[in-house]
Amino acid sequence: MLENFWRKYLQIKQKIFMKQTLGNSSLHFLSLTKNNNGLFWISFLFGIFSCLMLFWLYQTGESYHENHGAEEIGEIVTNPISGKPFILNTLVENLSAQENNQLECQLPKNVSIVHAINDKTPFKQWLNSFKAEALANDISKETILVAFKNVYPIQKVIDLDRRQKEYSVTFSKYLRNSISARRIERGKSILKKYRTLLKNIEGEYGVQPQILVALWAMESNFGKNMGNFSTINTLATLAHEGRRHSFFRNELLCALHILEEGHIHVGEMKSSWAGAMGQPQFMPSTFFYYGADGDADSKKDIWHNKADVLASAANYLNQIGWKSGQSWGLEVKLPKMFDPYQARFSEEKFLKEWHGLGVKKSNGQQLSVNNRIKGSIILPSGIKGPAFLVFHNFRIIREWNKSMNYALTVGHLSDRLMGQRKLVGKAPKGEKPLTRKQALSLQRNLKILGFYKNKVDGMVGLKSRNAIREYQKSKGIPADGYPSSELILQIQNSIFPLK
Ligand code: CA
Repeated sequence: MLENFWRKYLQIKQKIFMKQTLGNSSLHFLSLTKNNNGLFWISFLFGIFSCLMLFWLYQTGESYHENHGAEEIGEIVTNPISGKPFILNTLVENLSAQENNQLECQLPKNVSIVHAINDKTPFKQWLNSFKAEALANDISKETILVAFKNVYPIQKVIDLDRRQKEYSVTFSKYLRNSISARRIERGKSILKKYRTLLKNIEGEYGVQPQILVALWAMESNFGKNMGNFSTINTLATLAHEGRRHSFFRNELLCALHILEEGHIHVGEMKSSWAGAMGQPQFMPSTFFYYGADGDADSKKDIWHNKADVLASAANYLNQIGWKSGQSWGLEVKLPKMFDPYQARFSEEKFLKEWHGLGVKKSNGQQLSVNNRIKGSIILPSGIKGPAFLVFHNFRIIREWNKSMNYALTVGHLSDRLMGQRKLVGKAPKGEKPLTRKQALSLQRNLKILGFYKNKVDGMVGLKSRNAIREYQKSKGIPADGYPSSELILQIQNSIFPLK
């Protein structure tokens, strides 16, 4: 219904465009014929030709839009229903996608279809359009009926999606919150209990048992905290209302595929408020592409079946490039004169080179130099905190979760499960978490100074730290990229000097 209305609207808009163009041509024609008889017949024939061409364009205009919608980028028209500006190509692209059944359950990285959304579309109306899309994508009527039997939007999910954290968490606090003596003991007993299963999985996928158990602990506390939201209701809420609606629309379609394949009943398909499902907290697209059947019962049940949980996690890491038998990294000790500018995540050097620069293991022993492994040094709490040398597999953990704190904690927890000691490096004295206000102000100031070129979002990640590092380098101070309170104040004062 809405689509037909839009089609009519676009047709009317095209007609107005044709009339305007035709009118201009006629005026041009008249001005020529006034002063020059010789030009009269040329202009007359040109006018006839123009009329024929415009008539042809008018006839074929709609099919052009349907076939080449994505090329008509950027024209803004007003939505006659909501009165809000609307980018023409997104609507046309949406219609084309539905007509050509182009939408598929895709990997998160590859989500490219931008769906038009009218935030005033009632949920039920939106759901009907989604159901049609799902049907066109090989989801059966029965699955759609069962999946959406009790569907409703969840206000709490919207609130959680829109909340802004007032404080960031420092690395040391993150580590403290994630690794307790009790968790280590539980992890060790799980390593024992599931030794055979974990060894078999390592044999098949090449991922060490302690890494899988550490991830399991971090994601759901070994299956205790999986989230209790209905996956379908959560994703439908975010696909209809949320800020990243096209991403969640795709995830919802993937969730329907999971139900269609019969891995889980809709009532048991629980997730976090953001749609992360089961014991490994997989998004539906991750499940769809990397879920594995660990006990050969033809089902991939990452909610209840531990063999499926661990095989799925191992398969995911394996598929995204885990190197069998290699370590994630280790804590290191830096020499006194170490230039922290070298501790950049993008700066990879062979172990031999780091050894040559005086880097040692945290217990003072020499680094191994008899291999060809490359790694980067990272300083999550700056030059005064612990230092880590991280390898390829650390980057794979970051594919699972982009947070540096997360990846370091998974790595360190996996070591602790194997009996290694606590970190030697301590948090800098008086370390405080950044407030959101401080983080926003820091990014804005670095932008003013020309060091930061990305979005001011209050999230101090790798890009912000690189900007800090470049600022420090320009001032000749140790360039560790760490946003200490002193540094934030120094940057602030360099722009707005105190009187
Ligand atoms: Ca299974």
